[in-house]
Amino acid sequence: MKTKGAILWGVGEEWSVEEIEIGDPRAGEVTVELAASGLCHSDEHLVTGGTPVAFYPVIGGHEGAGTVTKVGPGVTGLKEGDHVVTAFIPACGQCPPCSRGQQNLCDLGANLLAGTSISDGSYRVTARGKDVIPMCLLGTFSPYITVHQASVVKIEPDIPLDVAALVGCGVTTGWGSATKVADVRPGENVVIMGAGGVGMNAVQGAAAAGAKRVMVIEPVAQKRECATNMGATHTFASIEEATGPINELTWGRMAEKTIITVGDIQGEDIAAALSVTGKGGRAVVVAVAPIAQEDVKLNLFDLAMQRKELVGCIFGNANPRRDIPRLLRLYAEGKLKLDELVTNTYKLDDINQGYADMRDGTNVRGVVVY
Ligand SMILES: [Zn+2]
Ligand SMILES: [Zn+2]
Repeated sequence: MKTKGAILWGVGEEWSVEEIEIGDPRAGEVTVELAASGLCHSDEHLVTGGTPVAFYPVIGGHEGAGTVTKVGPGVTGLKEGDHVVTAFIPACGQCPPCSRGQQNLCDLGANLLAGTSISDGSYRVTARGKDVIPMCLLGTFSPYITVHQASVVKIEPDIPLDVAALVGCGVTTGWGSATKVADVRPGENVVIMGAGGVGMNAVQGAAAAGAKRVMVIEPVAQKRECATNMGATHTFASIEEATGPINELTWGRMAEKTIITVGDIQGEDIAAALSVTGKGGRAVVVAVAPIAQEDVKLNLFDLAMQRKELVGCIFGNANPRRDIPRLLRLYAEGKLKLDELVTNTYKLDDINQGYADMRDGTNVRGVVVY
């Protein structure tokens, strides 16, 4: 089928919205007509080259929701008309990580950057006659995707698809970073560094888990205001501004949990996070660094002597098959804010404007609506 998509032809280029060809579903695949796609910071890493892919062109986008329009042979549990959310890491349900309840580490994630399809290693998208790598095996910067059934999660039909899209990456990652990885307990002091599309949901998760204080460090005033609406109890513009008050508020004990959800993580952010984390505390690295980033500022004496923990986090330790429907149920019950995350909506043709707004700090989440 011919449709259009936002294609990146090389590092440093703009998204080019142009005609593409999407193949029909092969074994184990479905075609989905998308209602919306979130503009996640991770796609920006394709533009900067921070996240390398096997080759260009790439079709961006990994945060989508829509309706199944075609079902390939061998697909189980999905039919035409079903509503689905994309999972930016596939969840096969059968590999060792999936079967021990760690679908965020599913072995099918191995080909995420190579972009080869799960079913037969080929490609479903072509542009200007060339094979195109779909971001995270999805490529939601197009009104249609043909993807493996492991990459989509069926949801209840009464959830609005445009907000459901956000749960495919940012919401689940942020919420899980607080509720699962940081494992925030009632009464704890939590620091969240960076309140964008992921951090804002770490705020919601920490508040829902019963944190006594949710202290947000975020340079953009508009995002600090939004964080307050999402459950932040204190906000600061910088780590320098935050350190004194956090010390005072916690009677010198600092935070039990610190979550790093900045847009562009630097090595010195680790030292900053651990400096506001108290003894026995845990700092969680959620932000995606450039793939070659190896230099980290870290006081090793402090790490050992104060028994601090520094842990990584992908997809918020979520099991998408369980957690995506569960988070959408919380939304339906009014316990999770999704509409409030959407700062601006765009047409696909205006996607470069959407990313300009993200870089300017205007957007908590920009969403392309089809
Ligand atoms: Zn993402
Ligand atoms: Zn798996």
